[in-house]
Amino acid sequence: MLVRELSMSIDTLKGIGPVAIRTLAKRGIYTVESLLRHYPRTWEDRSRYIPLKHFSSSSVCTLVQVISRDWFPNSRTGKQDLKVYVEDTSARGVLVCFNRPFMKNQLLQGKYYWLWGSFQYKFGEIQSANFEAEALPEETLYEALQDPASSLLNKALSRHFGRILPVYPLSEGLTQSMLRRFIEQALRCYAEPLEDEVPGYLIQQHQLLPKSQAIRAIHFPHSPEELEQARKTLIYEELFYLEVLIGTRAQDRRATERVQRSPGVPGSRSGAWLPLQQDLLERLPFSLTKGQAEVMSAINRDMDGPHPMARLLQGDVGSGKTLVSFLAALRAVELGGQAALMAPTELLARQHEENAARLLEPLGIRVAFLTGNLKAKGRAPLLKRLSAGDIDLVVGTHALFSKDVEYHQLRLVVIDEQHRFGVLQRQAIMSKGDHPDLLMMSATPIPRTLALTIFGDLDIAIIRDLPPGRKPVKTHLARESNEAKVYDFVRKELAAGRQAYFVYPLIEADERKSLKDAQSMATRLAQQVFPQYPVALIHSKLDEEEKRHTMEAFRSGAIRILVATSVVEVGVDVPNATCMVIEHAERFGLSALHQLRGRVGRGETQSYCFLVYSDSQTGDTSTQPASGLTDDGKARLKVMLENTDGFVIAEEDLKLRGPGQITGTEQSGYLPLEIADPLRDASLLEQARLDAFAMLEQDPTLLKPEHRPVAQVLSRTAPFSV
Ligand code: ADP
Ligand code: MG
Repeated sequence: MLVRELSMSIDTLKGIGPVAIRTLAKRGIYTVESLLRHYPRTWEDRSRYIPLKHFSSSSVCTLVQVISRDWFPNSRTGKQDLKVYVEDTSARGVLVCFNRPFMKNQLLQGKYYWLWGSFQYKFGEIQSANFEAEALPEETLYEALQDPASSLLNKALSRHFGRILPVYPLSEGLTQSMLRRFIEQALRCYAEPLEDEVPGYLIQQHQLLPKSQAIRAIHFPHSPEELEQARKTLIYEELFYLEVLIGTRAQDRRATERVQRSPGVPGSRSGAWLPLQQDLLERLPFSLTKGQAEVMSAINRDMDGPHPMARLLQGDVGSGKTLVSFLAALRAVELGGQAALMAPTELLARQHEENAARLLEPLGIRVAFLTGNLKAKGRAPLLKRLSAGDIDLVVGTHALFSKDVEYHQLRLVVIDEQHRFGVLQRQAIMSKGDHPDLLMMSATPIPRTLALTIFGDLDIAIIRDLPPGRKPVKTHLARESNEAKVYDFVRKELAAGRQAYFVYPLIEADERKSLKDAQSMATRLAQQVFPQYPVALIHSKLDEEEKRHTMEAFRSGAIRILVATSVVEVGVDVPNATCMVIEHAERFGLSALHQLRGRVGRGETQSYCFLVYSDSQTGDTSTQPASGLTDDGKARLKVMLENTDGFVIAEEDLKLRGPGQITGTEQSGYLPLEIADPLRDASLLEQARLDAFAMLEQDPTLLKPEHRPVAQVLSRTAPFSV
């Protein structure tokens, strides 16, 4: 009954007209519940008296008398604007009313008002154009003048003063006072009977507020302390549901018993190496790193276990994740199944397919390549072979999981560079087989807080070492004006037989930006800077065939200089390339810079990365933001200069972006959290996770997650939702 009431349309509330209803609908607010969950962006404490003289350190909340008024012409609008001179016991200030003709009958000379505003010192006056004032009722005037501070504090004086007011995110057509009014109305009608949703013992244990009080206090708190408690309550509740959902998912997975398909394969229950895997290991010119070996033993055990594997493999660029995925694929094949390896770009998928062909075909593995660009002529027979079980490993892009693709016996799904995929529906992928194993790989480390949320139902494995003999890439900063020196350095490397990448932020010239672009620079480098060496250009607008050709030529050494955009950011592996020159490096994000730098240092020779930055704003047309070095850009370059470890760089990245930004990151963008922020609220998150998992262990019936709003939203949008 309660839920039905909350889910009632907002037009059942008094005082919300049709225009407002339409405006709210645009923000996704249709029901009483969604209105109550339209949480404030911030709060203004108008219960504490802050006289005018403190204007520079905070907003003021004071009692003023209007001294005089002055209309003056606005040269821009041609209209009359109003200046109101006011005074409290501490100072005199000016309220500037631009374009507010209705002020004619407000803020009258000689009268007293409560005033809230942010003031600045301008033209010799303490000015505010951003204020709210409210006339004092006659009967309170005497008392207020005696002691404005306690008068404010002691009682709720009015709608807008003597209390802590919510400040909502607005959109066109909505005002603060409308929202405050609507929400007050909704609270009056519905909030009282709200039931607690978090189990009672947890509310007690963490000293949370009852739900009704929390909802009321998040909008209209009686005190800063109550506000803090309300926030904690709602944040905890949101994170608790999230973790209940994740915990449920993990339990479901553990409850899924798959058919042991090949009980006859020796060693297939013990996690020991199987013959095909051993065969590959013997043929390799190197042995596995310690990290690779550890991860493989976990994967072997997972794949032999009774439940489907769901594992996230993190390892820095160049740590050898591809080989791990091949070894896992061999196990799937040996166990009688097929494996699918998905990469985010065709370029990378192609490279994997070539490596697979080179390493695995000699072992008798039938490898195929499938992307969206495959013409019908080749596609139909390939799909047929796939569904007949005549292909063991298929490598490709997301086309691997298109509707018409059928597998004979899909046993393993590998997703490379998983962070590059948007929201993937695990359902769509998993339905291609009977509970196949899932291995997701990423070089972008996921901070612990996010790992507990988005990937909270996965097992995580980390490769911490790099193959032996790798020398850390030497990184240098260079001003654009010094680029000739960088070119000279690269020339020496080329003369020694090595290869180089040059990366630019733009594909082609853009008149509005004075940035170098890949296209023009490819020409310049080929004709003027390195005329004796073959140069090629690669970027996302070229067709796949051309890209493939170029990459092949670069890999074979026929091309010595590859000019690119960030298409080469992920995965590309050409060990003879020793120079990475990134121009306008200040324009790239940290994870892109780290990935780009990871394209070199893949062999045993010393490699170099040059971060070339613009040191001036010359040439920029005035309408464009300066292309010079911003503080942020500077900080990113410094991080790159001082660190090589991807995990450290990812942490620094989060620090630079700040907790508030976390919801903007690709990963957390999946989480439809309304009030919690996994990074800022990390300790509550950990607590909520412990509590949720413990509750699921003991008595999952305490709460039905499918009835919870967050859980509902999540199960629709979260990646890999079941
Ligand atoms: P990433 O983890 O970034 O995907 P790759 O799988 O592309 O890294 O591997 C980078 C390079 O390291 C490849 O050239 C690969 O052949 C090589 N490699 C992988 N494992 C080892 C190893 N154990 N010893 C030496 N080289 C290795
Ligand atoms: Mg890789």
